[in-house]
Amino acid sequence: MPVPSAANAGVKPEVSVVIPIYNEAAGLAQLFARLYPALDALGSSYEIVFINDGSADDSVRILADQFRLRPEVTRVVLFNGNYGQHMAILAGFNAARGEIIVTLDADLQNPPEEIGNLVAKMREGFDYVGSIRRKRQDSAWRTIASKLMNRLREKITRIKITDQGNMLRAYRRNVIDLINQCGEVNTFVPALAYTFSRKPAEIVVEHEERAAGESKYSLYSLIRLNFDLITGFSLVPLQMFSMLGMMLSIGSAALVILLLIRRFLLGAEAEGLFTLFAIAFFLMGVILFGIGLVGEYVGRIFQQVRARPRYVVQTILQQEGMTEQELLEQNAPRGQREQRQVSRS
Ligand code: UDP
Ligand code: MG
Repeated sequence: MPVPSAANAGVKPEVSVVIPIYNEAAGLAQLFARLYPALDALGSSYEIVFINDGSADDSVRILADQFRLRPEVTRVVLFNGNYGQHMAILAGFNAARGEIIVTLDADLQNPPEEIGNLVAKMREGFDYVGSIRRKRQDSAWRTIASKLMNRLREKITRIKITDQGNMLRAYRRNVIDLINQCGEVNTFVPALAYTFSRKPAEIVVEHEERAAGESKYSLYSLIRLNFDLITGFSLVPLQMFSMLGMMLSIGSAALVILLLIRRFLLGAEAEGLFTLFAIAFFLMGVILFGIGLVGEYVGRIFQQVRARPRYVVQTILQQEGMTEQELLEQNAPRGQREQRQVSRS
């Protein structure tokens, strides 16, 4: 079981929304303007856990201001550096107290208004609700590359996710508790959650263009992330490589026999030298690829056994030990809520 921390004190909200933030200052105001009304309209108690993944821009100040504005439903986890979107989400899971935990991106590509639909689907008894983007609003190359990766992952893992790149998802407490027990250094949250879910479902959601700023993923980080997904959930690439190695050995053994026979029947031959070169270079390429592939796994094992902290939390901005009364007031009309804040300060 996860160790109860100070963050687990107080009364639990029904819904926790977990949002990783990395240099999103330009779009945060727009996010708040849509997120809070969407959640106020839910009719359930909620909390929003923002994780600042080492932003170098104004994000921290904006998040702190927002915390002061809505401290009863806002918590902010501040990392001391950039550990990546998935680590930020894991830290959010650790801090989240809700029964239903929803993740979404901060750039408004995932409309906050869809949270209600996810929660409604969860209430039908599912413990994992994924989402499929009706029309993905990303560049053509990313959409195509992501479709190809989706198909590859479908073939070599047992994970059944239609649209893996989308973070707008809901998970039940049982799934989150299991994720919190994992110490994986490189992981892919939706896939990890899927492996723990007993009753998964998917719904179709809208997808919008990034509201402000630019994608935080470079081509390199996207490749790394996809390697995390493949190596983290499948050994098939290694097995395929062993198979390929066996086939190539059989092939080259046949070639050696053929060349030997020719040597005895026809005598010394010099033809076919460049063919041999071509074959040798091809095999060298295959070997290098194989070493690289093994390296991807070994490198991750190395990171894992070093057992350094996966991320470092600098501070958590939160109201300590919320009382039941406060939690009830959370769903009270806005005017009342503001009065309470004024009287407290
Ligand atoms: N993000 C993060 N740390 C990172 C990269 C991204 O917390 O190192 C956050 C980012 O702020 C956003 C979400 O992860 O909330 C998705 O990032 P982005 O929109 O750049 O990814 P894309 O939509 O291009 O896949
Ligand atoms: Mg985005």
